[in-house]
Amino acid sequence: MKLVRKHAIGHIDPMNKTSFYGLSYNDLELLLKEHQLNPYGARVLFNWVYKKRRAGLPPNLAQVTKKFLNENISFELPHVLKDQKVIQNHQNSTQKFLISFGDSRTVECVLIPFQGKYTLCLSSQVGCAMKCSFCYTGTQGLSRNLSSEEIVGQLLSTYHWLEDQGHNLRISNLVFMGQGEPLHNFEAVQKACSIFLSQYGLSIGKEKISISTAGYLPGLKKWLASSLDVNLALSLHSTNRSIRDELIPLNKAYPLEDILELLKKWPLGPKRFITFEYLLIKDLNDREEDAHLLAELLSNYSALINLIPFNPFPGSTYERPEEEKIESFQRVLSEYSTPAMLRKTKGEDILAACGQLSSLA
Ligand code: SAH
Repeated sequence: MKLVRKHAIGHIDPMNKTSFYGLSYNDLELLLKEHQLNPYGARVLFNWVYKKRRAGLPPNLAQVTKKFLNENISFELPHVLKDQKVIQNHQNSTQKFLISFGDSRTVECVLIPFQGKYTLCLSSQVGCAMKCSFCYTGTQGLSRNLSSEEIVGQLLSTYHWLEDQGHNLRISNLVFMGQGEPLHNFEAVQKACSIFLSQYGLSIGKEKISISTAGYLPGLKKWLASSLDVNLALSLHSTNRSIRDELIPLNKAYPLEDILELLKKWPLGPKRFITFEYLLIKDLNDREEDAHLLAELLSNYSALINLIPFNPFPGSTYERPEEEKIESFQRVLSEYSTPAMLRKTKGEDILAACGQLSSLA
């Protein structure tokens, strides 16, 4: 007998159970209510699994609820197959994890230390369909979407792995900048975010989660119509249509002008910004004039610019600009009011930097 309502189910594992990690707090409460169980169990479970990160079932749960969970809910997490570290110093190393799911598909996620805190870079798909010309993941094509439990599982498996190693750190920031186009898998990403945000669980602040998109307009429209409230980052990379077409083929279907038009309507609370990522590629988009065009284009947005010097990967044809070129680009931007930051590349030597993630490792 299948006890669980269809709409609450994320992915059913081979044992025909529903994964716990695909259930939002509201889903879980509803599920318990529907089975005449005390809905307060949702709070106990979220606290146990996400806040305390304990294994097994919480002791202070009614026997009937435990029985229901044992019979219907799976607590199986993806496996950490491999980790690789870039040693900077003991407290400060970027770490890449290869995570494997039930069907043996894998993704990579990357843990980045910054000022005593940790950011986890999550993947949303196995591979990616966008085929951006500067991105390693794009060379693989799309294998499949990740389910919400697989997205949440990346975080929990990483946490458990680190805690087993004796590390007592807090992952305070999440960025969807690993493999995949998160807005091409909007529903799963949205559900995963609602689990990350839940005050009864991980309780990660909405301003601490960023979703980065290449400009997938249908996904942006879905987001706009939804209640999802986390940060948006747009991979802009060039203000010039034919260069952006070359870099992000998606631009041909959904040109930057249309995206920027939609972003005029983007709801932003006080002190909230849209991040515009700008990849710097030697002799392609790194002239001072490009910096002026970028700043002018964004002058009417509540924007932050994030400059990312190109990270090479096996077989890539582009190059990273020289330091002086990057500095002069930044200098031009500093003449304008939009703040611009240079993303210090971390993890290049283990191919853990932006755009270097693969499922072929
Ligand atoms: N699909 C999403 C998120 C994944 S990529 C997006 O396009 O935004 C996350 C960020 O890494 C994007 O800004 C992307 O443009 C950048 N990136 C991809 N490949 C890169 C590379 N080789 N060097 C530097 N940044 C890269």
